[in-house]
Amino acid sequence: MSYLIYRCDCGRVLYSKEDTKTKRCTCGKTLNVRKRRILKIADSADAATQAVQDMQEEIYGGSIFRTADQL
Ligand SMILES: [Zn+2]
Repeated sequence: MSYLIYRCDCGRVLYSKEDTKTKRCTCGKTLNVRKRRILKIADSADAATQAVQDMQEEIYGGSIFRTADQL
């Protein structure tokens, strides 16, 4: 089983199993997984969780992107 890693329009990085059709983000938006641009594919839930964490850090930990509370 592969896990797909993708981003919601709100910026959050999410993952789901490859056979998942829709995923509800914590922002409330329901995403059509098959229509998302896949950033990465992981081969286990652990690897997917790690990849999501790494990407969140890259996005929110960097100086290029600012989080909403810094605007
Ligand atoms: Zn979202």
